Amino acid sequence: MYFRLTEEQQMLKAMVTRLANENFAPKAAEIDEKEYFPEEHVKLLAENGLLGIQIPEEYGGAGAGMLSLILAIEEVAKVCGSTSVILTTQALASEPIHIGGSEEQKKTFLYRLASGQCLGALGITEPGAGSDVAGMKTFAKKVDGGYLLNGSKLFITNGGVSEIIGVVCYSDKSKGNKGMSILLVEKTDKGFTVGKKEHKLGIRGSDTRELMFEDVFVPEERRLGAEGSGFKTLMNTFNYSRPGIAAQALGIAAGAMDAAIKYAKERVQFGKTLSSFQGMQWMLAEMALSVEAARNMVYRVASLIDEDPNSADIPKFASMAKWIASDTAMKVTTDAVQIFGGYGYIREYPVERMMRDAKITQIYEGTNQVQRIIVANQLLK
Ligand SMILES: Cc1cc2nc3c(=O)[nH]c(=O)nc-3n(C[C@H](O)[C@H](O)[C@H](O)COP(=O)(O)OP(=O)(O)OC[C@H]3O[C@@H](n4cnc5c(N)ncnc54)[C@H](O)[C@@H]3O)c2cc1C
Repeated sequence: MYFRLTEEQQMLKAMVTRLANENFAPKAAEIDEKEYFPEEHVKLLAENGLLGIQIPEEYGGAGAGMLSLILAIEEVAKVCGSTSVILTTQALASEPIHIGGSEEQKKTFLYRLASGQCLGALGITEPGAGSDVAGMKTFAKKVDGGYLLNGSKLFITNGGVSEIIGVVCYSDKSKGNKGMSILLVEKTDKGFTVGKKEHKLGIRGSDTRELMFEDVFVPEERRLGAEGSGFKTLMNTFNYSRPGIAAQALGIAAGAMDAAIKYAKERVQFGKTLSSFQGMQWMLAEMALSVEAARNMVYRVASLIDEDPNSADIPKFASMAKWIASDTAMKVTTDAVQIFGGYGYIREYPVERMMRDAKITQIYEGTNQVQRIIVANQLLK
């Protein structure tokens, strides 16, 4: 498949590249070093209509489709992994409402997210429930007019900076997966508290938190879809959000490759630039091969989502794209550090940060072991 970007997509890509190079790149090292959440980048992303690129215009977005979102994430991730997490997380928080929400919920909650009025988060993981989502304990007890929510969530991206938090929980434990629901919690809800910020290996500017729910009353109008539809909505959400993580990984890999090419042309050893040594040339060529192979997978699933959003191939291709792109990001960034030699290991240069940022893309939104399980299940079903 050959990907010819439309004129609008080319313009969007050029706009995001400029925004990222002028505003995000200069701050990326400082954000990483100080572990600080870049509110000013949220503002810029919102002002440029980038927090709801793929969401239809009537719900506050740009209606530009999945490939456009992917292009934007890739361009931002090339220069600042932490800032790209703002885009991937907003998409993760928006998608369950887009998929499972009522018209009213889309016009209110989704609109606020897609138009950039506020940030959102999605809470799935718990101390005892990571890859095994069904192991979660958070429970919503039915009461008059709604639910009383009790439990906690761990490692929730944007947990401390979001106004709307989708919480995946059991509403009827006896029904297993079919007893799960997704409730929308507002930051101001009584009984909802945010825990300490986690200190991480990479994407250190992203806000990762524990969330606690103690008798939080959530009105029935804030349940997405029918009671018990939460697991299905969540699995569908991942089909549309994993390509975003794949794009993030692709961008990190491409950014590291660009840095390595530039450095190899400048650094002189044995009286020649590194780029004149065949050993270095082959490493660069292998990086380019991996990046292009990953890009093809990522653009392919995004194009498929745009052309046929209900295609039965999406779960498989979304998992494959995330798997290959994140493994590529890890390999390419590690090789980029190698090309920089000792300087690659030093914080003054960007590639060690890129290597640290790359690692999370193999872990969140389903580890790459989980992606293997999904692909195998799709093959064998
Ligand atoms: C920075 C960061 C941000 C995150 N953001 C969010 C967020 O916004 N929302 C959210 O809900 N969660 C979030 N998470 C959680 C993340 O999705 C989980 O950490 C991830 O799904 C893995 O779960 P776990 O950490 O419990 O690992 P485990 O499930 O305990 O897995 C440990 C290891 O065992 C492997 N493994 C597990 N089961 C199997 C199996 N059946 N077969 C083979 N191997 C297996 C895994 O692949 C992994 O290598 C975030 C995590 C981090 C670190």
